[in-house]
Amino acid sequence: MSHFEILARNGSTMEVHSAHDSESGLRAMIAIHDTRLGPAVGGARVRAYGCEDEALEDVVRLARAMTAKAALAGLPHGGGKAVIWVDPSRPPPDRETLFRAFGRFVDTLNGRYLTCEDSGTSPTDIDVVRSVTRHCLGASKEMGGSGDPSPFTALGVRRGIEACAHVVMGRDDLQGLHVAIQGVGNVGMHLARELFDAGCRLTIADADEARALRVARETGAEIVSAGEILGVECDVLAPCALGGVISDATVDRLRCRMIAGGANNQLASKEMGQLLQDRGVFYAPDYAINAGGLINVAQEWKGYDAHEARQKTLLIYNTIAEIARRSLRTWTPPAEIAERMVEEALLRVGVPQPFASSLPIFSSPTPSFSRGTAV
Ligand code: NAD
Repeated sequence: MSHFEILARNGSTMEVHSAHDSESGLRAMIAIHDTRLGPAVGGARVRAYGCEDEALEDVVRLARAMTAKAALAGLPHGGGKAVIWVDPSRPPPDRETLFRAFGRFVDTLNGRYLTCEDSGTSPTDIDVVRSVTRHCLGASKEMGGSGDPSPFTALGVRRGIEACAHVVMGRDDLQGLHVAIQGVGNVGMHLARELFDAGCRLTIADADEARALRVARETGAEIVSAGEILGVECDVLAPCALGGVISDATVDRLRCRMIAGGANNQLASKEMGQLLQDRGVFYAPDYAINAGGLINVAQEWKGYDAHEARQKTLLIYNTIAEIARRSLRTWTPPAEIAERMVEEALLRVGVPQPFASSLPIFSSPTPSFSRGTAV
């Protein structure tokens, strides 16, 4: 497939910038999908891609996804993304030199793209980028940034669960609701605390047993193995570990009423959305419910204010409630409703330009993180 075909498959407009820097070994691409709502925002992902097309496909797909996430969150931002393509067969590049070169690359775009942390990057990397360009969000608190976004992501997921419980189950609080959390890392651990405080009964699993034990001690959660968590009979399944968890291989094991969690790319394919709908399982679209981290870093753009970031994150309740109401009214999968709401948000501000494409917004069956925090 030609490069332009890859771009066209992922949106009616898409621009991609590439950079190569011999001194640092940097090979990077930045995709800007949409700037109608404001400067494009999206993380910088470091990955050992198999080939150039794979890197290009990833960066444009993720840029488009960021447009959706920012628009649904009501942020004054469009969607963009960066990938840094590393070669595992070569000695690892000097991190600081690499991220300085990346920062210079970001700077050449004059603020049309704002970078931040993603899988494969760390807060230290982002601090280096920040020292080179101001077009960077999510630096550490010491560098004047907003720090770890995970508590905000978890807060938004808790609000999303409250909205689902209200609209789908007719409940006014979460008291006694049984939630099964897959992965109690940064997001899952904070979510477990939020839900414990709200009176939920918790079942958790983590590939790291010591981590699961720590969270269970704090929240009274029951621990099951990583292989069992998807099949736990519960009100809500909250995937907070991997992408692609709802797939042909797992969907028959689900025994939950709703799926609402922090992980990116939870559905392995668009068909899964329809299948869940047919089975009466409500699915809260991941990019709508897990936007709290993005809302938090985006707050930096006009001067960071933790209180305002929190207030805006609480509004995820309204977004999820609206998706749920429309879904129940029209019996349409929530993921489709969310895409329509993205289109509506974009049409309100700019030149008509279709957002929908034949591809689902998120479609990666691969784990959506390695090291670093995707927002
Ligand atoms: P993390 O690495 O801190 O936590 C993930 C946890 O999942 C780890 O403890 C890991 O041991 C566990 N895990 C891995 N595979 C598992 C399996 N098969 N079963 C059970 N547990 C498993 O990552 P995180 O920052 O908490 O992010 C989690 C997910 O949320 C990712 O998909 C990420 O892209 C997404 N996300 C995170 C943020 C954020 O603010 N951190 C924002 C938006 C989306």
